[in-house]
Amino acid sequence: MLSCKHTIAQGTDYLDKELGFWRKVEMKMHLMICVNCRRYVKQLKQTVVMLSKGQFKQPSEQQVEQLKQEYQDVASKQ
Ligand SMILES: [Zn+2]
Repeated sequence: MLSCKHTIAQGTDYLDKELGFWRKVEMKMHLMICVNCRRYVKQLKQTVVMLSKGQFKQPSEQQVEQLKQEYQDVASKQ
């Protein structure tokens, strides 16, 4: 079973559909049982959508990184 840290770290790859089949299955399984990571992926998705729509003047990896960092902090406190 994937840990929260792993799930968060792979979040962007998951959304970019860059994960292999089993990794994807593992992610989905984890997301089914973990509210935290579900919330993270959802927020990440919204961020990516906003970036792709150009709602930010400078699409920044920073925002994605910041989000990742925040959730990793949460995950490590559990
Ligand atoms: Zn999790």
